[in-house]
Amino acid sequence: MRPWPQRRMSRRTWLGSAGALLLAACGVTTLGRDAGSGLAPQLGPVALLGGRVWHEGATEPAGVLSDGGSILAVGPDVAARDAATTIDCTGLVLLPGFVDTHVHVRFARAQDVLLGGVTTVRDLGSTPEDRAAWQGVPVTVRAAGRILTPLGGYPTRSWGGRGESREVADADDARAAVDEQVAAGAVIVKIALEDSGGRPLFAPDVLAAAVDAAHAAGLRVTAHVGTADGLRLALDASVDELAHLPLYAIGEDEAADLAMAGMALCPTLAIRGRDDGATRAVAAFREAGGRVLYSTDLGNGGTRPGIMGEEFAALRAAGMSAAEVVDAATVEAADHLGLDRVGRVEPGWRADVIGVAVDPAGDEPLDAEHVRVVVAGGRPVRTDPA
Ligand SMILES: [Zn+2]
Repeated sequence: MRPWPQRRMSRRTWLGSAGALLLAACGVTTLGRDAGSGLAPQLGPVALLGGRVWHEGATEPAGVLSDGGSILAVGPDVAARDAATTIDCTGLVLLPGFVDTHVHVRFARAQDVLLGGVTTVRDLGSTPEDRAAWQGVPVTVRAAGRILTPLGGYPTRSWGGRGESREVADADDARAAVDEQVAAGAVIVKIALEDSGGRPLFAPDVLAAAVDAAHAAGLRVTAHVGTADGLRLALDASVDELAHLPLYAIGEDEAADLAMAGMALCPTLAIRGRDDGATRAVAAFREAGGRVLYSTDLGNGGTRPGIMGEEFAALRAAGMSAAEVVDAATVEAADHLGLDRVGRVEPGWRADVIGVAVDPAGDEPLDAEHVRVVVAGGRPVRTDPA
């Protein structure tokens, strides 16, 4: 582990063009329950100067000072003299790094995700080897581990047949499978309830055993649901979250039922393309009081690493304000993942801050292409030329 260089940087300094610098930033990637915990304290104070800080949908001129991985100060009085490293953020809006609650780390490079403005991800289906490939990059990774599925169930015969899924034979095996994920550091248990194409669905007692074991271990359960039968099973078993909007054309009444059952929703709308029914379902879910979280299913067809403008726009189309989308992608998502003091640009919070060359409240959906500055856990990893 080498210390981050203590030097001044201008906007003409590019730190992210090669993996080498990121890797030199030291191995702070965390995969399990310790994710997001304290960083090595060798980094000197970092000041982001000249930008405007996002706060509840508006921006105001302010600097951000961080040290040792946490934000120390936010305001107009933050000055270059306070810092060992300064980053010119003139013309940029500073907001928290994004939290993507549904990714697959196997299918993306950590560097690309981080440089695109996403500083925390939750993986929903991976092997330890997949996650190991993300070590050495200062992005926080939380993971479900392997997807629990019936023998021969989704996705064992498609993308998830190389250890990303754990086939479950019966109720005892379901409990054992949950224990394995817990031992591997899972922060949530993922279940497949996908019977389209004649694929098998869990028997209710097997599903109940898995859900009960997860809850007994203090973990939520998230489900990939394909059909109405799968959705009924999920509701009956008190599954806590949907990893997608159900893949069939769910009605608004059904969506409201999910909210009233207390489920959280990671809708992954962008991968559905233009789908007005899905948009209406998310709107109905929200109107019924449901919690929607930013999620892309990174790795699925049509996704790109970093902030996806398509998902930002899809959530806006479902009736969310820009401030609500940013919250769903930052403080709300971090809270849902159980991360402490992640997702706000405020003193005492983790120094995950991005600078973007667009006002997120404007007509253009915020996207990775707008990201110019990324500070992750107090470490500057991207400072673009002007
Ligand atoms: Zn997925």
